[in-house]
Amino acid sequence: MPRPILATIHSSALRHNLERVRQAVPDAKLWAVIKANAYGHGIERAFDALRGADGFALLDLAEAERVRQLGWRGPILLIEGVFEARDLELCSRLGLWHVVHCDEQIDWLAAHKTQVGHRVFLKMNSGMNRLGFPPERYRSAWARLNALPQVDEISFISHFSDADGPRGVGHQLQVFHAATQDLPGERSLCNSAATLALAHDAQVRCDWVRPGIVLYGSSPDYPLHSDQDWGLQPAMTLSTRVIGVQQMRAGDTLGYGSIFTADAPMTVGVVACGYADGYPRSCSTGTPVLVDGQRTRVLGRISMDMLNVDLTSIDGAGVGSEVTLWGNASNGARLSIDEVAHAGGTLGYELMCAVAPRVPVVVD
Ligand SMILES: *Cc1c(COP(=O)(O)O)cnc(C)c1O
Repeated sequence: MPRPILATIHSSALRHNLERVRQAVPDAKLWAVIKANAYGHGIERAFDALRGADGFALLDLAEAERVRQLGWRGPILLIEGVFEARDLELCSRLGLWHVVHCDEQIDWLAAHKTQVGHRVFLKMNSGMNRLGFPPERYRSAWARLNALPQVDEISFISHFSDADGPRGVGHQLQVFHAATQDLPGERSLCNSAATLALAHDAQVRCDWVRPGIVLYGSSPDYPLHSDQDWGLQPAMTLSTRVIGVQQMRAGDTLGYGSIFTADAPMTVGVVACGYADGYPRSCSTGTPVLVDGQRTRVLGRISMDMLNVDLTSIDGAGVGSEVTLWGNASNGARLSIDEVAHAGGTLGYELMCAVAPRVPVVVD
């Protein structure tokens, strides 16, 4: 028997979450963001459930090729654009739409020999200071692109830094709309947080939204709102089993560094999952976990291949008991990836992207 750890991808949850986003923004077109191998879920595994989207957004050219190989003939957007001049050949060949965020990318386009008119999304740095032209250089970049025979259509794109937080998007919104006001073309601003929380405002919503994390069932603004508050379903379950049991006496210590000491007799389950499976080492004592669908906690340090859970109050648990690290237990209980991530000082994003290649994956 293989080691019992398993990641299960829930197609019905992906479909449900996509539909949930549709309901939030019925008037917008929707990019399903599937970068990072569909946030760790696997592009090939997620594709069928997400093909109701209007397009797919990602950043790796090899991932774009995989989406075309799956038979997708609709829009694919490279959200960081091309990384070197010859990438444009693939854009022409596969009909990829691409972001243009710097002068070099315009130079490459100007030198690109093609019969295919390119659809580009001109990126503005509206305040996040990651990719894009600053507002004062945006119109001249647009004019350069607009003069190129290689360019068929220009759209406008920017990214929010604080859609999930107290600062909000007002400052960036103002900068973006002021600089694009009289330019013709489609616009795209919203990530998941903005799509769910702010896109009722047409100025925020624009023509295209770009949800990523919500499709996978994680709340974009946890702990302000949970996945359930947003009506989302987990698209991934990470599960395994108890492979050993130890009885500890008061004063006994547990695991590497002896960071946990029993203050009373207790039963500890040793679980086949560790940081080499992608479970964060920062999720030590206190992180929630389900055993046979009942909520308990992690104890002590996470080691490479194992972690420990408290079985003291879980009747009947022992070797072979089901352990749900996040997602759905067999009895219907649910543990949100956001709650687990929060306990380890990180985000659901990081956990789902980090599931290790050695973990077998099934789709249900
Ligand atoms: C990753 C990404 C998104 C999706 O972000 P979520 O928070 O996962 O919804 C949208 N736009 C850009 C440019 C991105 O890089």
